[in-house]
Amino acid sequence: MLFPAEIAERLEDRLDSLHERESVGACSAASLDPADWPAFRRQAHVMLDDMLDYLEQIRRRPVWQPAPEQTRARFRSGLPLAPTDLGTVHEEFLADILPYTVGNAHPGFMGWVHGGGTPVGMMAEMLAAAMNTNAGGRNQIPVEVERQVARWMADLFGFPAGASGLFVTGTSMANFIAVLVARDAALGHQVRGLGVSSLSHRLTAYASREVHGCIGRAMDFAGLGSDPLRLIPSDDRRRMNLRALADAIAADRAAGCTPFLVVGTAGTVDTGAVDDLDGIADQCKREKLWFHVDGAYGALAMLAPELAPRLRGIERADSLGFDFHKWGQVPYDAGFILVRDGELHRQAFACQAAYLAREARGLAGGSPWPCDFGPDLSRGFRALKTWFTFKVHGAEAIGASIARTCELARYLESRITSSAELELMAPVELNIVCFRYRAPEADRLNRELVIELQESGLVAPSATSLDGRTAIRAAIVNHRTGYAEIDTLVNETLRIGRSLHARRKGDCA
Ligand SMILES: *Cc1c(COP(=O)(O)O)cnc(C)c1O
Repeated sequence: MLFPAEIAERLEDRLDSLHERESVGACSAASLDPADWPAFRRQAHVMLDDMLDYLEQIRRRPVWQPAPEQTRARFRSGLPLAPTDLGTVHEEFLADILPYTVGNAHPGFMGWVHGGGTPVGMMAEMLAAAMNTNAGGRNQIPVEVERQVARWMADLFGFPAGASGLFVTGTSMANFIAVLVARDAALGHQVRGLGVSSLSHRLTAYASREVHGCIGRAMDFAGLGSDPLRLIPSDDRRRMNLRALADAIAADRAAGCTPFLVVGTAGTVDTGAVDDLDGIADQCKREKLWFHVDGAYGALAMLAPELAPRLRGIERADSLGFDFHKWGQVPYDAGFILVRDGELHRQAFACQAAYLAREARGLAGGSPWPCDFGPDLSRGFRALKTWFTFKVHGAEAIGASIARTCELARYLESRITSSAELELMAPVELNIVCFRYRAPEADRLNRELVIELQESGLVAPSATSLDGRTAIRAAIVNHRTGYAEIDTLVNETLRIGRSLHARRKGDCA
């Protein structure tokens, strides 16, 4: 065993002999490091300040604007062979890229379910990029950081000590991993070698009809097909109807299928509905089925004491997928999968390759590695920005910002229900509000209305369809959003709605 002082001494000896041959620190001609570090440093500080200005002054910008054709055209030029000065490329970034993003960092953004990001997350991304960590495995503290976040999450969601956790791109990937682990738990791990074509019976899965489309895709990717995902009707609050679930399972068993998985959703993508997770857990226990929770955005409501009781039963899940990049405000991407039985999780992905052999000491120590729990071998250091976010802000502040988006949703609901011109389209469960402007041909008018709102640059909701009826959907996820943006949304909806309505009437006259 070497002590650090000893290591340092040996390193110094080596460097001394190197110095005699070449000057250490000056870059060799082929290196991509800056030839002029002081100049690079100055430019780097300019770039950092630009992005801090961008975030500090984001309210002065439009939420979104369409990119002009000339700008798009510049992205069709060929592969650059010769170098360009960093400052020049940065100017190009400021002019042609930065102004034309979706706009989810802006407080007026309410489309889909996108997180806002934070300056702290941005700085952590920079640190991770400089380290250039490959967090696939090996004997290094970044892997320990990921394990720490996994333990925090296991504690938060009431999972046992043997639970495993893994950073992934997003909940689409987390759900896919869960389907694979559940499939193998049902069939035994020999199915990884034999393939699902060796099965004589059909595996069936269940989710409410409000389920996110990625669950059907996960079934498809797992070789099970998306058709055996049974979409169970939902109740008036858009939660899975548990009677209908029991009936569907019984019908499939009677038909010779093998039910294996039920997916409950904590925060549906359209309306924020939360399934009765405790009730689903009861049925899964009775029927011996895997219970997965898609908590993509909603699971982190656990951080808000006033919201956590709505997730009752989540602690009984066999697996849980969720995103830090939505309500958790961690910069993209930062999805996460938690599995109650970490050993089942590992066995669904374990592989033997000589170049991945493990040792008790040295760089190949510290097994099992993150790459043993998912399809990725090389992976970035997503854990760092999440770790920084929780450390710097504290879990309570993140919970408070989540609770506040729900408070804003209730305020928006009250403004809608007090206006005769607006119609609430779904119960407001968490932070998503679906509504529309009342008018004849309301479907067409509201689709147009959403586009005009987006093009106004003031607020950006999205459109969705609920039972075939077009709705304006405001998903309030961003920690920067406040009452002012909600008022703008309502006032602009009324103004544009009236004008579209008047125009329609004019067209018909
Ligand atoms: C966003 C979302 C997903 C997909 O998550 P990604 O991080 O975009 O892959 C899945 N389910 C629900 C309910 C979601 O809201």
